[in-house]
Amino acid sequence: MGISPNAKRRAAQVVRLLRREYPDATCALNYTSPLELLVATILSAQCTDERVNQVTKDLFKKYRTAADYARTPLDELERGIQSTGFFRNKARSIVGCCKLLAEQYAGQVPQDLEALVELPGIGRKTANVVLGTAFGVPSGVVVDTHVTRVSRRLGLTAQKDPEKIEQDLMALVPESEWIDFGHRTIHHGRRTCTARKPECGECVLGGICPRIGVAEK
Ligand code: SF4
Repeated sequence: MGISPNAKRRAAQVVRLLRREYPDATCALNYTSPLELLVATILSAQCTDERVNQVTKDLFKKYRTAADYARTPLDELERGIQSTGFFRNKARSIVGCCKLLAEQYAGQVPQDLEALVELPGIGRKTANVVLGTAFGVPSGVVVDTHVTRVSRRLGLTAQKDPEKIEQDLMALVPESEWIDFGHRTIHHGRRTCTARKPECGECVLGGICPRIGVAEK
């Protein structure tokens, strides 16, 4: 099943309506540097942003540079991030990433998608979050669980694989909107187009949304 011929026009309407609804939507993770955003984004897998922000409040005081993380014993870091879930994998990713950053990039986060996705545990989603939010570089569209669900319901993609969904959205949404579209769609998915109970009657997109896969109440 491909994208409907109306998808481009609908995407333009979605961009306009979400911009009006959430003019200031941005990343809900707290950070003060690209490195902090990278670490917070790794921690946010399968975890709420609120929980990540609680954990990073202390974590970012203790570890300030890539070298700080790189020389930390895994079990010590695991204890610090335990409440975010999947903490063993996350600790391995953070330490592995930071070792490479310290050794190959003078401790700086590279502003380059190809370089970022080469880092341990970093996929396109995390790379797009860091590049778009910390550097303002539109490397792609962030596709998380909210963007996946909302885009499919809106008929902007029929794909299930995040990288294929991203390709569809990059073709439909102007590059200048990629970063904000991601933030706003995530907001919309959290507030209105939720997984279990989408509030179609209250939705700003209600007039244009085909509600694909949404059961009638
Ligand atoms: S109309 Fe319903 S399905 Fe469509 S975006 Fe809004 S809440 Fe989601």
